[in-house]
Amino acid sequence: MKTLADAFEHTLKDIYYAENAITKALPKVIKKVSHKQLKEGLKEHLEETKDQIKKLDEVFKSLGKKPSGEKCDAIEGLIKETDSVLEEAEGDEALHAAVIGCCQAIEHYEIARYGTLREWADVLGKNKAHDLLTEILDQEKAANSKLTHMAVSSVNEAA
Ligand code: ZN
Ligand code: FE
Ligand code: FE
Ligand code: FE
Repeated sequence: MKTLADAFEHTLKDIYYAENAITKALPKVIKKVSHKQLKEGLKEHLEETKDQIKKLDEVFKSLGKKPSGEKCDAIEGLIKETDSVLEEAEGDEALHAAVIGCCQAIEHYEIARYGTLREWADVLGKNKAHDLLTEILDQEKAANSKLTHMAVSSVNEAA
């Protein structure tokens, strides 16, 4: 990795891998939670995530590159933690609070990545990529806010 363009491409592959991993991991979480609002919210975000992968395909295309992923150890770790919460949490209430915590860790990771990527795109003069990455960033921020709202409005109290 020598230039900012290299770092940009590497990080793009990293988040592409992460979004694909999230798409595979979410159905298991959705199946396990019974909290209606949380279940619905996660289902919605799963669909949104699939759409984000399409947006990333477009980003790669705008750069004249083929979409591809590169193993992201961070998301592997965050998903592993989520899996153990699903196994270890006892009682629905505690599970829901813990799952929201795990999902927020993932959203924060994504927010960090997309925040960096869209600024790099800007500096590199990749306007189309900048706009698409900003769209995804806004979706991640909204998903995170929804989770915060669910946690503080009912789930934490119940747990
Ligand atoms: Zn990496
Ligand atoms: Fe995402
Ligand atoms: Fe990563
Ligand atoms: Fe997300």
